[in-house]
Amino acid sequence: MARFLLLMTLLGLANYLSNSLFRIEGMVALQLTYALLLAILLLTPRRQWPAYLVTAFPMLMIVRALAIGSASELTSLFALVSTITSILTAAVGAAILSRDRDWVEGRSDQLGAWATAGFVTVVALPLVCATVFAAVRIPPAGYSSTDYWFNVYSNTALAYLVLTPPVLRARPRQWRELYRSGKLPEAIALIAGFGAFAALIFTQSSVLPLFLILPPLIIILFRVGFIGLSVAMALLVPIAVLLTGGGQGPFYAIDHPGVVGGVQNETDVLHALMLCRVFLVLTFIIVVMIAALLHEREQLQRLAQADRDIYEMVARQSGDMAFVCDLDGRIVFISPVAAQVLGFGESALSNFDWRNHIHPDDLGTIDAALQRVGRGEEHVDYLFRAFDAGGDELWFENRVRLSTATAKDTPRLIVGSTREVTARILREQQLEKMATVDVLTGLPNRRQLNEQSRLKWRLAARHSDFLTIHVIDIDFFKAYNDVYGHAKGDKCLREVATAIRKVLKRPDDFCARYGGEEFVALLPGTDAAGALKIGEDICAAVRDLNIRHDTSEYGIVSVSVGCATIRPAFADDDGSLFEAADAALYQAKRQGRNRVVASNLRNLMIEANIVALPKRQG
Ligand code: GH3
Ligand code: MG
Ligand code: MG
Repeated sequence: MARFLLLMTLLGLANYLSNSLFRIEGMVALQLTYALLLAILLLTPRRQWPAYLVTAFPMLMIVRALAIGSASELTSLFALVSTITSILTAAVGAAILSRDRDWVEGRSDQLGAWATAGFVTVVALPLVCATVFAAVRIPPAGYSSTDYWFNVYSNTALAYLVLTPPVLRARPRQWRELYRSGKLPEAIALIAGFGAFAALIFTQSSVLPLFLILPPLIIILFRVGFIGLSVAMALLVPIAVLLTGGGQGPFYAIDHPGVVGGVQNETDVLHALMLCRVFLVLTFIIVVMIAALLHEREQLQRLAQADRDIYEMVARQSGDMAFVCDLDGRIVFISPVAAQVLGFGESALSNFDWRNHIHPDDLGTIDAALQRVGRGEEHVDYLFRAFDAGGDELWFENRVRLSTATAKDTPRLIVGSTREVTARILREQQLEKMATVDVLTGLPNRRQLNEQSRLKWRLAARHSDFLTIHVIDIDFFKAYNDVYGHAKGDKCLREVATAIRKVLKRPDDFCARYGGEEFVALLPGTDAAGALKIGEDICAAVRDLNIRHDTSEYGIVSVSVGCATIRPAFADDDGSLFEAADAALYQAKRQGRNRVVASNLRNLMIEANIVALPKRQG
């Protein structure tokens, strides 16, 4: 109810001013009333419209009579018809415009919405009013009906165009926003300054200053937004109309270029007022178009930003790092997660040169991958190592592909995602080690032995080189375990393993734990003589450990070694070399242990070298 009374009072005031202050030469120069009514209806739910319309009608009639100071106005046919027409056209205009709530609420300043608003307020509604008025009223003496028609048309159009939008846009909520963003003082200063500037220009008797009106309006639009522009226009229009109606300003100079500041006659005033209105409407249309373009640009920016925000959110959420680089690997974009993963500040990512952080051995892998996608491969996956801020080595898995951007002239870019996989790689490496290394002795296990014997056989076959195998077995080890326990037994196994390993000095020599207390050595490039020598060295090295073994014939831990040497003539190891060495080992055991027996493949026992050692006495 309070709102209703307030709006009705404002409407009455607007009507009073229109019919008193803005009544120039017997005609209303700026009809504020119906533009305000249009705005009020747009802000009011439709079901309340009847209350506003019914109340407005008698109120406006009375105020009009008061303003003109003539009671006969109340019974005048013209007053009745014009008030009804104006109220109805405002209601029709409101019905049309209120469909675009976004525009009404000031959420959208699309050009399309403005075009509809412009058509309704500048063309349709004033046209109806002016035509009805001109048909009902005999124009004041000295004016043609056309003059009168155009006067009504232009003053109504101007009021609609520049009054309705400010009322819609400059509501308390909008002011609060301006206040909160700290722009209010600047807005007030700019608008007040503009008011003074406009007053100055509309007292000049030259046309030139008129051109100065646009720049400050555009500055206000840029600095304060549409709300500032609306208010500035709402200020400019009455100033311009009142000063021009009062016989001052640039519009007199158009018809009378030489005459300075002189008011001429009533026709001059009306003519100047019309020019003034046309000027104001055009000015407003220009700034509204700029405002709409500005609004569209802002909306595009907002949309683009929203898109970027979404992608960034997705990128952050996935934990993977997304990046875009050119074909030479120069980073165009890298998601901020990269900074977290590598332990840098996000600022380090601008101008990020990844090459400084990559393990030197992996730079080639990366360059090759980039080249492959650059040449058109659909995608390439690869692993690489990089160093974090603390210098720790991390493993990463990358997938890169060529961008699918379809716009013309866009440079070809590579899009990639990077995942930190250090934990996984370390686990894999550990599993791999567990699968190939014997835990007790640290020597390679039987699995590696199989691989290595295939490999070394093939190499020896290719180079027609010797390959020697030693099968080594600890003597009386069951008894050792029985006497000294398994823990001691394990310790002994480790020491024997180390001793054997030490005997094998060539880089290609390989030694594995075959199982239990048996070891196998593979020695590429070692002939039969060398094989025996190494076998003896192994026996000696174990003896030199001097591990006490009371239940052994020798009193210390010893090993027996069977060895075999071949120059492979065929590509694949058929197991015969191992069998020969194993048979030689059997012989070594039979012959008293703690010795080496060599075999060759054709004739299993062509050579036997028994390292005779004195048996323990007693
Ligand atoms: P020989 O001189 O004929 O080789 O007699 P030996 O007792 O060494 O032969 P045998 O193959 O009968 O015994 C092997 C023993 O090695 C059986 C087991 O007690 C012991 N052994 C096998 N693997 C391990 C191990 O991992 N740790 C320990 N402590 N002992 C093991
Ligand atoms: Mg054994
Ligand atoms: Mg044994």
